[in-house]
Amino acid sequence: MFDFYQNHSLKQYNTFHLNVTSKNFLRLNTKEGWTLFCETQKNKFSIDDILILGGGSNILFLNDVEALVVHPAMHGIQIVDETADHTMVEADAGVIWDDLVEWTVRNGLGGLENLSLIPGCVGASPVQNIGAYGTEAKNTISLVNGIDLIDGKTVELDNASCQFGYRNSIFKTSHKNLLITSVVFKLSKHPEFKLSYGQLMTEVEKLGTVDLRNVRQAVINIRQSKLPDVREIGNAGSFFKNPVVDAEIAEQLKQAFPEMPVYKAAGNQTKLAAGWLIEQAGWKGYRSGDMGVYDKQALVLVNYGNATGRDIYELSEKIMKSVFEKFGVELEREVNVVKE
Ligand SMILES: Cc1cc2nc3c(=O)[nH]c(=O)nc-3n(C[C@H](O)[C@H](O)[C@H](O)COP(=O)(O)OP(=O)(O)OC[C@H]3O[C@@H](n4cnc5c(N)ncnc54)[C@H](O)[C@@H]3O)c2cc1C
Repeated sequence: MFDFYQNHSLKQYNTFHLNVTSKNFLRLNTKEGWTLFCETQKNKFSIDDILILGGGSNILFLNDVEALVVHPAMHGIQIVDETADHTMVEADAGVIWDDLVEWTVRNGLGGLENLSLIPGCVGASPVQNIGAYGTEAKNTISLVNGIDLIDGKTVELDNASCQFGYRNSIFKTSHKNLLITSVVFKLSKHPEFKLSYGQLMTEVEKLGTVDLRNVRQAVINIRQSKLPDVREIGNAGSFFKNPVVDAEIAEQLKQAFPEMPVYKAAGNQTKLAAGWLIEQAGWKGYRSGDMGVYDKQALVLVNYGNATGRDIYELSEKIMKSVFEKFGVELEREVNVVKE
């Protein structure tokens, strides 16, 4: 039901490949494993001393981790309900996200195909409401199941209760103590494709008919041409969020920098492209020792080998400062920084 290790290396558990160690590492093979583990460890760990870790593709460790690292490793995918138009699929937290996407495409179910090849596990997908190519996880998430790590009770949240936003959800605020154990997705038997984002349509057309398999393959092709392969170069995808500013501020910036891409956001707000801002501030392709900014996408900070979490963090500070000095825009990190 669980495996417990001390002084366990996290190098395989973070896509920056940082050589850090977890003092206490718990792998949950079933959701009941948490209750069982608690019975053996009475009062030893408080909620502030717990870090939930999926695939570590959105985490930057600055030091060895003193906290209890809880790694969900439940791996099931099952159909839990069906109507004429939809299939409800429940995937356990430890399922590799892209294995789920591949499964849905193979079974002719639409909704996740634009989210192909995002690293990490299913359990983390609601946390930051993962998104790509005009789609977000919130468009298909029906239920999130979890365990409250404080009282051990099971919790079920419907879509509205998750308060999804741009790379945001209740799991980053009031529900940080919830270990997500599985997610139920509402998938379509009659997929409607979203192809208007970037070059997606062109890439699908190159492959032939517009169907689930080709949309997935097109997304994979585009991603592989732009993003570093985590097996070769350590990174956590987009290091910063795209800043959202008032429309008037965006207008002023646009006058000063006519080339600047802007996208309409909710309300009277405008989304700016963090990658463009960083590139204009001169960071694209920057390298110092083993840390750097990816040369094909300035939003991605990379570890070419032996950079430390602190090296990458300090680089991110410098980037934030120089973007602020040039544009007056504050960047916010998308990656979760674990400082202890
Ligand atoms: C090359 C690359 C490309 C990427 N592209 C995208 C992209 O296109 N779109 C996008 O949105 N993201 C992208 N990411 C970021 C990352 O893949 C996603 O955020 C992913 O969902 C993280 O999953 P994970 O399992 O690795 O989570 P982790 O990094 O392990 O954890 C992330 C956060 O979720 C929490 N968490 C993890 N599992 C659980 C759980 N079961 N219960 C409760 N909390 C949990 C952690 O405590 C942490 O706060 C990319 C990353 C890389 C390396």
